[in-house]
Amino acid sequence: MDLGIRGRKALVTASSKGLGRGSAEALAAAGVDLVLNARGAEALEETAAAIRAAHGVQVVTVAGDITAEGPRAAVLTAAEGADILVTNAGGPPPGLWSDWSRDDFIRAIDANMLTPIALMQALLPGMMARGWGRVVNITSQSVKAPIAQLGLSNSARAGLTGFVAGTARQVAPHGVTINNLLPGIHDTDRATALDKGVIAAKGITMEAARAERMATIPARRYGTPAEFGAACAFLCSVHAGFIVGQNILLDGGATNATL
Ligand code: NAP
Repeated sequence: MDLGIRGRKALVTASSKGLGRGSAEALAAAGVDLVLNARGAEALEETAAAIRAAHGVQVVTVAGDITAEGPRAAVLTAAEGADILVTNAGGPPPGLWSDWSRDDFIRAIDANMLTPIALMQALLPGMMARGWGRVVNITSQSVKAPIAQLGLSNSARAGLTGFVAGTARQVAPHGVTINNLLPGIHDTDRATALDKGVIAAKGITMEAARAERMATIPARRYGTPAEFGAACAFLCSVHAGFIVGQNILLDGGATNATL
């Protein structure tokens, strides 16, 4: 399917690895020029080079912490005129509801709520003025069904989801859509880090930890960054203009819910 977005420009934050990279690759495959960001410059440059070589699109990189004001301003300067925004940042650490301090909550809210909001506030006006735009926020399954050990994610992402629900309806008249993609478990460094926590807590092998987790997923496997990216690119396509303010689970059926 031709996604109809060849030649458009996208900012994908936190995109040297994992789901951000999967989204960037799928957009590049559709002919979209990219601005990519991550803190680590080495992996960022490797990803950019691989995408340029595979898809022949323009890829600009800006290394820096997207949750910090200075680096975010540099990213936004490079992304001026972007028609597509995919927001992403690292997920908060696991723990117990009783453990987290005010500072822990502020860090999580900064990364997983206020940063995507700041990116949208910066880029939405241009999209609205040009009459076309797409925003996809990478959030989490934890928005639909809380994950006990990820209370910081449950909390911060719920705030972002509320902002999007209201804002998506205000920008839609200008040809701009905002939607959230909610990953369940996907095979990335983040999943490996969470599985290492299970290994430590239960004293089991990585193989056993993964098998335990897969048994809870109707698809009986982890998702891949490539299939996540394909869904993201579709939401950014010309075909998705009537999908507004939705929260779409990509979790292999793991969330046991009718709606
Ligand atoms: P990942 O494989 O660990 O990749 C994270 C990417 O983001 C890397 O490129 C990393 O590069 C970059 N990054 C992290 N923090 C950043 C920051 N502050 N500023 C700029 N770049 C940053 O993670 P992932 O699995 O793709 O997860 C992406 C998001 O989806 C996370 O918020 C995660 O919590 C959420 N999620 C993931 C899963 C899953 O199963 N994978 C499930 C539910 C939700 P640097 O480290 O070099 O900055």
